[in-house]
Amino acid sequence: MANLGDPDKLASKGQVYLVGAGPGDPGLITVKGLEKIRIADVIIYDYLAVPELLDYARPDAELIYVGKKGKDHTREQPEINDLLVKKAKEGKTIVRLKGGDPYVFGRGGEEAEELYRAGIAFEIVPGVTSAIAAPAYAGIPVTHRDHASVVTFITGHEDPTKEESAIDWEVLARSPGTLVFLMGVKNLSKISESLIQHGKAKDTPAALVRWGTTPEQVTAFAPLSKMPEEAKLKGIQAPAILVVGFCG
Ligand code: SAH
Repeated sequence: MANLGDPDKLASKGQVYLVGAGPGDPGLITVKGLEKIRIADVIIYDYLAVPELLDYARPDAELIYVGKKGKDHTREQPEINDLLVKKAKEGKTIVRLKGGDPYVFGRGGEEAEELYRAGIAFEIVPGVTSAIAAPAYAGIPVTHRDHASVVTFITGHEDPTKEESAIDWEVLARSPGTLVFLMGVKNLSKISESLIQHGKAKDTPAALVRWGTTPEQVTAFAPLSKMPEEAKLKGIQAPAILVVGFCG
């Protein structure tokens, strides 16, 4: 257990499990994650948190949806943090169920910090991230001994034209490995242009996988420069993973 603080100083007997639901196929949750869903008093879950998994909750469990879909936020992050702390202080066992892995672009790190500050015991149950699983189900290994020795996970949410970018496009463009963008659909044209501007070859293979690992999975393959057009043609919207580099 990630019992980070002094146990004597813990604010409550409540326990929070930050659980990765996996990428979409309900079979891809971990055994440990499912075990926690089965025992939880309260399950606080997201838009991408694989709703089928809630069938395993106790019949009397309280299920709270706090989904966030693009800008359409059901609850803002501070409200979610407060809810977690409040329920834990009631002495409840809580599962905070998040899509994929909680610490991969899921704001799980922020929630963990909040719990730590509030003196609440929590444990992390990692999940299978869509960044690896969606390409895998589309036939793309994110590393390959002969083709890709480096893999980079990048948020596509950041506007590449903003002045103070946290993303070094030059380094990404130079990377010989696989680039995996999450949350990149809205900025697809900007991502493709930025990579090409910084030196990535226009014909670098790219793939866009929507709803990976679910029955709705759709994949578009195109050279990097043509990917925005191809995505439009195939009607691919979020949630999708963009892979640039070795594409199977
Ligand atoms: N923690 C999650 C990622 C959260 S960010 C994880 O580890 O998978 C949300 C982004 O994840 C989406 O915008 C999309 O890029 C990606 N995503 C999540 N589930 C997906 C799926 N089934 N198929 C394709 N992309 C997915």
